[in-house]
Amino acid sequence: MASAAETKPQIEEITPAQAQAELGNGSVVLLDTREPHEFAEAHLENAELVPPSEVLARIDELAPDAEQRVILYCRTGNRSGQAAAELTEQLGYSNVASVAGGIVEWQVQGLPVVAPEGLDAEQRMRYSRHTLLPEVGVEGQVKLLNSKVLLIGAGGLGSPAALYLAAAGVGTLGIIDDDVVDESNLQRQVIHTTERVGIPKTESARIQIEALNPDVEVVEFRERIGPDNILDVIRDYDVIVDGVDNFPTRYLLNDASVRLRKPVVSASILAFDGQISTFFPFEGPCYRCLYPTPPPPEMAPSCGAAGVLGVMAGVMGLLQANEVIKLVAGIGEPLVGRLLLYESLSTRFTELKVRRDPECPICGANAAEVPESEMGKFPDYELFCAGPPGALA
Ligand SMILES: [Zn+2]
Repeated sequence: MASAAETKPQIEEITPAQAQAELGNGSVVLLDTREPHEFAEAHLENAELVPPSEVLARIDELAPDAEQRVILYCRTGNRSGQAAAELTEQLGYSNVASVAGGIVEWQVQGLPVVAPEGLDAEQRMRYSRHTLLPEVGVEGQVKLLNSKVLLIGAGGLGSPAALYLAAAGVGTLGIIDDDVVDESNLQRQVIHTTERVGIPKTESARIQIEALNPDVEVVEFRERIGPDNILDVIRDYDVIVDGVDNFPTRYLLNDASVRLRKPVVSASILAFDGQISTFFPFEGPCYRCLYPTPPPPEMAPSCGAAGVLGVMAGVMGLLQANEVIKLVAGIGEPLVGRLLLYESLSTRFTELKVRRDPECPICGANAAEVPESEMGKFPDYELFCAGPPGALA
């Protein structure tokens, strides 16, 4: 850094506006002294990419005449200033300038850049740490911005998942929850705040998400998910985040999502333990393949009644958000056919293989066709009931 600062005063620095005026007359060699991934994100028109380590070696080919006007820029002006100084001092170039403030200042001034379709200047900045990842890139970020993710429950799991999915730029977040924020939620439901105790959870979540990322549209469903509304609610979404903590609703969600072929990232937490899997209809097992029958009521406590370590919601909710992002961007290896268990007291992850059940009544080869008139009706759930359906973690 010291060398860049020392050499800076010895080279000519021009403002973005001055550079633009000069570039208009066409007799200028314009060099972008950044790395390829930065260049790919956005660059100036007619710029030649020459990473800092290659400037001296390649200048002969790019500007053979040492009198040639050469303008260099980088992100903020340091690397281009350094390169300009080297060209001047080491190779005798006499007409070299560096753009002060680099492409960042150029864009602040509202001057045009060449950038991939799909992201505006603010989004390129906001999501730059995503687009710098080759696996995500601009293409993956655009997929996230165009995606619609439904959170069933704005509670323990839904809160951290919603925050990180919103930060990641998931374009539409649907949230279904009929509860209001309670003081006892705040130990783990981090999207809510003390001053919002008493207001609907969907509204509280929307306030927080909108403050975090204006790119996200929040769709509130202030209702309890049940047989009468589930198909209509989940129909428009690409991926579903299951934060349900009771078995009837979980079976209902499974059967509806298999019917509409919607992937569900399902997690649950209790005390110091959590588990998560991704149910991708017909690609892997469904929830019923894993749990053909629900446990008896006394074995199925809900978080309302039982204790849970607050950070468990964060750990498992963020594993869900991670799965969602992978599914949307089409990267990595989803937790399909795998059940991941987390024990927080010992800090241990265990993975179990889960296979599709050929006899599964929902996704098996011989599963009965459900007539149109029966769509949305799942009569057997009440029999499983360990309590009132719809309570959320
Ligand atoms: Zn199944």
